[in-house]
Amino acid sequence: MSTEKTQHENHKLEKRLCREVGRAIVDYNMIEEGDRVMVCLSGGKDSYGMLDILQKLQARAPIQFELIVVNLDQKQPGFPEHILPAYLTKLGVKFHIENQDTYSIVKRVIPEGKTMCSLCSRLRRGILYRVASELGATKIALGHHRDDILQTLLLNMFFGAKLKGMPPKLVSDDGRHVVIRPMAYVAETDLARWAEVREFPIIPCTLCGSQDNLQRQQVGLMLKDWEKRFPGRIENMFSALQNVVPSHLMDRQLHPFTALRATGVADDGGDKAFDDEPLPTPALRQAPPEDGDMGNEAVRRSVIPIAVS
Ligand code: SF4
Repeated sequence: MSTEKTQHENHKLEKRLCREVGRAIVDYNMIEEGDRVMVCLSGGKDSYGMLDILQKLQARAPIQFELIVVNLDQKQPGFPEHILPAYLTKLGVKFHIENQDTYSIVKRVIPEGKTMCSLCSRLRRGILYRVASELGATKIALGHHRDDILQTLLLNMFFGAKLKGMPPKLVSDDGRHVVIRPMAYVAETDLARWAEVREFPIIPCTLCGSQDNLQRQQVGLMLKDWEKRFPGRIENMFSALQNVVPSHLMDRQLHPFTALRATGVADDGGDKAFDDEPLPTPALRQAPPEDGDMGNEAVRRSVIPIAVS
């Protein structure tokens, strides 16, 4: 690809990333005036991308909010502890490295060959909540993206017998923090490309030696294969998470099935119970215009302008 073409493609990618992150922030009211956002940086492509795009949005937002980057150094053998401080110092962003040897705890407690991730992530979660309180953070930002959300949805269906994804915004289990996922609308492939464009100093995520997450990897491959063979399917699955029809699922907590009675009133939009459900034309989310303008509706509600010049 010619240099000019590459630059053009990179610029388009940057606009798309800013647009998708801005849209998620607006849609779920993730960041408000005066927020202090703790950006969790692991050293992987997703969290680097999140920090990068949040900084770009912060620079042009009509509201004031603060970013403070936190990395938890879990003392995994071989963790290159100089990389993140050097990178963050160069960026000029506020940051805090929390040193906690959870690796030794997990190794000591979990027998060899057994799954380490659940204890490891429980410890990590507790530490990050404590650090968020100490830093006075009002939001905790995690770098999960669209594909993480879909993988979680399928994993919960396959192994947890639940229709449950990964929320873009939630109150933490200790009730004290609001966790946000600003990358919720972003495709993983875009983040991977952006990491190359920006040459982030990626820290490998295999240092703990865990063979876990094999199921997640398999589901990820399945989704990639679907996307290749049936373009648009992933996007539609993701849109489906935002278009839930409780009356056509089977959860008695969500819909009063047991109390249903005939109303005696015809409803044209009502369910034609005897007919096959017509398959609608794929309802892809409407892509906002390429220039990054989110349209009047979004502008009216927007806290983050998303156009990139
Ligand atoms: S993959 Fe390693 S670092 Fe990540 S949660 Fe599992 S044990 Fe912890």
